[in-house]
Amino acid sequence: MKSYFDLGIRVGHLITMAGGEADPVKDQFIGVKDGTIEFIGPFAQSLKKRSRKYLDSRADVVLPGFVNGHTHLPMTLFRGVEDDVPFHVWLFERILPLETALVTEEFVRVGASLAALECIRFGVTTVNEMYFYAEASAKVLDKAGMRGLVSQAFADFPLPEDKVLGTDKEKIFRSLYSKFKKHKRIVPALGPHAPYSCSDALLKQVAAISEELAAPVHIHVSETEREVEESRKLHGKSPVGRLQSLGFLSSRTICAHCVHLDEADSKIFKDSGASAVYNPDSNMKLSSGATPVKRYLASGIPVALGTDGAASNNDLSMFGVMDIGTKLQKLANKDSTAMTAKQALSLATYGGAHALGLGDKIGSLEVGKRADFISVSFDYPHMQPIHDVVSQLVYAAQGLEVRHVVCDGKVLLENGRYRTLNQAQIMNDVERIRRKIQKTLAELRSK
Ligand SMILES: [Zn+2]
Repeated sequence: MKSYFDLGIRVGHLITMAGGEADPVKDQFIGVKDGTIEFIGPFAQSLKKRSRKYLDSRADVVLPGFVNGHTHLPMTLFRGVEDDVPFHVWLFERILPLETALVTEEFVRVGASLAALECIRFGVTTVNEMYFYAEASAKVLDKAGMRGLVSQAFADFPLPEDKVLGTDKEKIFRSLYSKFKKHKRIVPALGPHAPYSCSDALLKQVAAISEELAAPVHIHVSETEREVEESRKLHGKSPVGRLQSLGFLSSRTICAHCVHLDEADSKIFKDSGASAVYNPDSNMKLSSGATPVKRYLASGIPVALGTDGAASNNDLSMFGVMDIGTKLQKLANKDSTAMTAKQALSLATYGGAHALGLGDKIGSLEVGKRADFISVSFDYPHMQPIHDVVSQLVYAAQGLEVRHVVCDGKVLLENGRYRTLNQAQIMNDVERIRRKIQKTLAELRSK
């Protein structure tokens, strides 16, 4: 081991998540070269000397960066504008009219930038993103140094981007694909909104493009009981049954929510290789239901955890998702063992990476994998005493305890300070757009 590390970090408690298992090891060192993990082993002073840049986390826990399996980054700008209303009112009477009136490329750039600040602050290094003006979000993630799948929206209703980008979504996607297909951290993806907002022809078109380019597909599926009932009435099939009959589901398909899959749907889903994303905060807030995660995991369906957008959560913290998600499973199953802290941590890292098709690159800290990791400080009253590191992360941590964030070997947050983004500038832009949103809200409400 003659070569120098670009980056080295001394680790008090290391959770590598290798094999998806959360087993902490004390006093370790990670050496990174060219964005790849080159060494993991017990700490020694000689290793520190070999590191061009050195981070000290001897009192912290270090683990893989979180994978947010389902989100809409620019919706951070709608955080708190329409809370505590029913799902159909929330979506069709509030969010969609606001989006039609307000969402521009600039809105997306500013909203995604605010979201990137939040993700990095909370230790999220990878996102599965779905919104309008996808290229603008991809550029923000690139600048932030984060990793992500960024999907082009497809739907059979007018989208806010139509007036500028046109309605040929395949053409827009192919342009995004050609710009980012060789990018190290950004994966262009297809984002048909949901079975209820896409015709059979559109879903088939998306499936064919995905097959041709091996591109991932990101879609909302069976989020509410009403969606399933209406699908059965209109198509004679559940949303999952319909997607299967169209040849839509494959191991490249990532389905957000999947709250209401019956046993037959689960079987179809398992056989297709598709992944499900559990979004407990959003499902509770919009009263959508409790996703049967225990059943999915028992049947071998890949499961990720997600925040959903900030209009239905209202934050992008995976700490919150792990905590709430675990407790909701215990409550819904009337079984305090239904989901454990170790499982939550596994789904938020290793499981998420595999669900997004990135399992060979990230999701665990192992030699040869990309260096995406975070350190979390115990130097807070609510993080002491340390009987169980995993328990502290899932049930006690709030998010702001994250000290360092590294993605693809690059430091994005160092001792709580941003290294790739200008927080003050982004906050100024956010305030400017907040005023616009308030003006539009007043106009919509007076109608
Ligand atoms: Zn969503």
